[in-house]
Amino acid sequence: MSDWNSIDTPYDEILNDLPEDMRDNFPDVDIIVQSGETIILNFNSIITQIKRESNHLKKFISSELGVKTSIKGTQLVIKSKLDKNRITQTLKIYIDKFIICDNCGKPDTILKGNKKNMKITCAACGYSKNL
Ligand SMILES: [Zn+2]
Repeated sequence: MSDWNSIDTPYDEILNDLPEDMRDNFPDVDIIVQSGETIILNFNSIITQIKRESNHLKKFISSELGVKTSIKGTQLVIKSKLDKNRITQTLKIYIDKFIICDNCGKPDTILKGNKKNMKITCAACGYSKNL
């Protein structure tokens, strides 16, 4: 079992824990750290890759890491100094929760609904559940 509280999980281990067809397409996180901020430079392309709404992932990162975030153009600014592994881990937790199907393990899911009543449905096997 992976320990997601550890901030030292190597990038390779994070990838190894993913289903095979997600591993090849796992978004590479491009960051810079400057004056107390971490900026995800390719936030927009990550969003495109995982097919989710930028605000949804932004809010998830905020609550998961307990930090303030803001979207600036194609980038996400995080008001904290973080390393790449920490962000990659957070992204993986998001992908596990909101993208990978619990039933068949494929990433072909869609999210529907609003904040209070959200449902994930898998296009590959038809499984769906409330989040
Ligand atoms: Zn499925």
